[in-house]
This record gives sequence, C-alpha cells and structure tokens, in this order.
Amino acid sequence: MTSLAELLARAYVAESGAVVLGEGIVADGHMPGALVRIVTHAHVDHLVGMRESLRETPFIAATPLTLEMLPELGYRIPRAKQLPLAHHIETELMGYRVKLLPANHIPGAAQVLVEWEDGFRVGYTGDFKQPGTPVMKDLDVLVIEATYGRPEHRRPWSMEIEYIFADLVRDLLVKGPVYIYAYHGKLQEAMRILREQGIDAPFIAPSKVYRIALIVKKHGIDVGEVLLAESREAKEVMRDGWYIYFTHMMNRRNGAPPTAQRVILSGWEFSGPYRQAGTRTWIVSLSDHADFDQLVEYVQEAKPKLVVVDAYREGSSEAFASYIRRHLGIPAVTSP
Ligand SMILES: [Zn+2]
Repeated sequence: MTSLAELLARAYVAESGAVVLGEGIVADGHMPGALVRIVTHAHVDHLVGMRESLRETPFIAATPLTLEMLPELGYRIPRAKQLPLAHHIETELMGYRVKLLPANHIPGAAQVLVEWEDGFRVGYTGDFKQPGTPVMKDLDVLVIEATYGRPEHRRPWSMEIEYIFADLVRDLLVKGPVYIYAYHGKLQEAMRILREQGIDAPFIAPSKVYRIALIVKKHGIDVGEVLLAESREAKEVMRDGWYIYFTHMMNRRNGAPPTAQRVILSGWEFSGPYRQAGTRTWIVSLSDHADFDQLVEYVQEAKPKLVVVDAYREGSSEAFASYIRRHLGIPAVTSP
C-alpha cells in the first residue's frame, strides 16, 4: 500500500507551474534538468517558462498540430528539439511509457498518460471539456485542471451550446456582419463549430488568426474557406456586408464597422447560453473548459488513488479538492 505522500512525491505541480509526471518528464512548465517538456496545448498559461525550456530542455514534445502552432505564438523550436507525439501512440522515454490522449479543448490539445517502470500510472488532463475527452482510468495519480471548480460554475446547456451559438449567428447575419471575439484556439474552434452547423457565410480573419486557421485545417479540422482580412477578396466580401469576422478578444473595443453584430465567446457566463450585453453585443457561454459537473464526472469515472488539483493556473483548486474529498471520498490535494 503506497502512502499519499509517496504518490505525491512522484506526481505534483512544481512552483514553476511544471507538472511533474516522472523524473525528467514534465508538462506545461519549466523544470531545470528535465529531459523532456510536454506541451499539452498552445495556451499561454501552459507555455510558462518556455524560453528557459527552449534553452535548457533537450526535448519539447507535443502533438504535431500544437508543435506547428507554437511558432505562431512566438516560440520557434529547433527541429532537433521537437518530439512530435500523435494521440494514442505510446512512446518509451527513459523507461517511462508516455502517451498523449485527445483533450477536447482547442485544436491540438492533449492529455498525458505516463506509466513508470514499476507500474505507477499518472494522468494529467491539461485543459479539457466534455464530450470528446476520454477518461483516463486505473491511475495512481490524476492531475486535473479546475478552472470551473466551484459548484456555481455550471453550464447545463453545454451539450447544446454549439447549436445555440450557430442559431444566434445565423439570426445576427441577417442584420449585418458578425464579429466574433475570443482567444487563439477558441477562434478556430468557433470556425469549426459554425461550419459543422451549416453556416456558409464567408469567414474573414486577420493574419495571426488566419495562419492558425490554416494550420488547423492542414491537420484535418474542417473550418472551410477562410479569407485573409488584408486580401482583395476579403475586402470585396466586406463591401457586401455578409460575412463573419474572427478576431482576438483584445480587439473587442475597436475596429468593427457600425453595422456589425458583436459576439463575445466567454466561459465565465453562467446565467444562460447567451445574453445581450448592448445594442449590438452578445455574450455566448461557449467555454473550452469543463464546467463543475464535467470535472466531477471525470474524477468519478477515473477513480484514481489520489487527485492532484492544479493550483498554479487560474481556477478554484481548493474548492474543487475539498468537494472531491467530501463528496466523492477520494483523497485530493492542491499543488503547488
Ligand atoms: Zn487552455
């Protein structure tokens, strides 16, 4: 019988934000002396200390899609350092068996499963939502995110939100162009959702959003045709006024024409699937993170010996850990 302290000595979150999964194997943060740093996905809070890792860590591992997105976010990884790991393929690293599993979060996102030589198994979810994220089972330690770790963080509409979002966009397109505001990754996810829901209006994006969309598309995610905002073709389409423009959240205060309907995608909206926040502004509760119920379901299904809740990144780690201890009867701690 292994004690909790022994489990926690093997898998935890370091002060630097690095999720330690083996000796020399870390994810989403820098650890001096590590052999490999796994990047679960291309979001800034999972890229902390990347400059140091690029200097000191011999290998940077990620899905091929994430590896290709990183230069767009300012991280050029020398080819010799790149260790592409496709979902579901097991790789042996220094005696550890490492496998990435899909995480429904942003294109390219992955969960990490590491099996030690003596059979100890640790799984790290990275960021995820449901449906679409397989639950890792038979774990000694589960390291889980808790962005929405409080019982009030519930979005009961999360299973229908894709249709609701597309319906709203369809209605708004009748009034004028639609401007969609979100972070990188989620913007391309929004493109995929709208195409899947049958929206065929032209998509227009400024250069970084456009380039990430092309990478995502190259890796088989169907976002349809996207026009570069500066191109002649995009300018013609914009004169007609029937199009959807995808841009970064930080541009939400400027740039849209007066006729535009503005749609902000936010995970922090719990009052309903969407609400009007101004004459032409709408907030849609489209998150790329599990809500509270989905986090609880994951832990319930995984039934690990110990849950380590990531307290480095933004979230309600302490509230979530205490809920697991009290209501699921599974040992849970926050880390760091
Ligand atoms: Zn993320």
